[in-house]
Amino acid sequence: MSNETITTTSPHVLPTLPYADNALEPVISAKTISFHYGKHHKAYVDNLNKLTEGTEFAGMPLEKIITATAGKADKTPIFNNAAQAWNHAFYWQCLKPKGGGEPPSALKKKIEASFGSLDACKKELATAATTQFGSGWAWLVLDGEKLKVVKTDNADLPLTKKTKALLTIDVWEHAYYLDYQNKRPDYVNAVLDKLINWDFAAENLGR
Ligand code: MN
Repeated sequence: MSNETITTTSPHVLPTLPYADNALEPVISAKTISFHYGKHHKAYVDNLNKLTEGTEFAGMPLEKIITATAGKADKTPIFNNAAQAWNHAFYWQCLKPKGGGEPPSALKKKIEASFGSLDACKKELATAATTQFGSGWAWLVLDGEKLKVVKTDNADLPLTKKTKALLTIDVWEHAYYLDYQNKRPDYVNAVLDKLINWDFAAENLGR
């Protein structure tokens, strides 16, 4: 699955997980995946289909629904469910069994040019993820020629800010609470060290 396949049209379907539900253990348990993917992600997709049925948004690609509804108060429920459908399809690809380690060389060079070192980039991602107040997301993005770390509230995402998402970490409590309870930093650091999929970020950089 790639970024392109996130651009589905209605009826939107829950994308297949790129690994088994226990493949991210012990960092993220099969139980967390079963609720996070099977209940939360599925609900965003199902709600989006219900909310857009028979409207101008039926048949529209997901990314177009997101940009067409962003910032419009009367379209907030559609935006929230569309953005969360996109964010989760993207997030699953940002993780992989035996992830972490070193990014491919072109990405690593770009990271070093933007942050000084890979460690500094990871530290900035961890800080964004742990300091995001309440629900949201931490992102590595391409903004013009530079890589940046940003955080977003709730369902919001780089697409609404005209920056390109390379990686994300979900910091909604449903992403970690069963495994880590209130210890969000432990979840974030374990994801960065053991699961983060730098190959996927490098693919996104190259698109
Ligand atoms: Mn989530």
